[in-house]
Amino acid sequence: MFPGPLGASLAGRALERGLWSLDVRDIRAVATDRHRTVDDTPSGGGLGMVLKADVLAAAIDAAAPADDLRPRLLMSPRGAPLDQARVRALAAGPGALVVCGRFEGVDQRVIDGRGLEEVSIGDYVLSGGELAAMVVLDAAVRLLPGVMGKEASGEDESFSHGLLEYPHYTRPAVWEGRAVPDVLVSGDHARIARWRREQAEALTQARRPDLWRKLKGED
Ligand code: SAM
Repeated sequence: MFPGPLGASLAGRALERGLWSLDVRDIRAVATDRHRTVDDTPSGGGLGMVLKADVLAAAIDAAAPADDLRPRLLMSPRGAPLDQARVRALAAGPGALVVCGRFEGVDQRVIDGRGLEEVSIGDYVLSGGELAAMVVLDAAVRLLPGVMGKEASGEDESFSHGLLEYPHYTRPAVWEGRAVPDVLVSGDHARIARWRREQAEALTQARRPDLWRKLKGED
């Protein structure tokens, strides 16, 4: 599955230029039995299969020895919701080991024994951790120095200041009878900044009262 979409566009060009790298491991490659088994039935019964602790631990140990200080993430709907602050910290750090779950999930003992930090990309269930890992990687890679055209372009966007971003417009000045707001063609940079701030605040209040309360220190 990798690099998949991470091989295209911004992340793909950055990968080609060596601004980041990806070392993809197939868990099955470290399975020891004839059938390369990576999963087994759940202890206590129930449907589905569970990724085996011994196999997954061997894959993790091969990719990241004990003295490897990179954060070890496990993609998991039970995890802490991913947010821009976590993404920024990952981008500023030494990289990450990202474990992709499959089936019903992962034997709890490998989560505990290998210090895996569970991270969720949202309150829905995917069929595997690969797409979730790509989301984490894409969000972090675009913040690496030199990846975006202008270093500043990550500064002003949604979540950077605890707000959703203001609306964007471009030419033509009128499209299907809808005009670009006058303020944006006024050339008055202070007024434009004020308008954008007001729009960002109004959008955040209306769409994400949770973020708004956090920003106001009420949560
Ligand atoms: N039985 C699990 C549960 O109810 O929490 C769901 C397992 S899911 C079918 C298989 C794998 O997909 C998970 O182990 C995880 O790696 C990944 N996954 C699914 N949804 C995810 C999400 N929202 N965020 C991150 N990873 C997710």
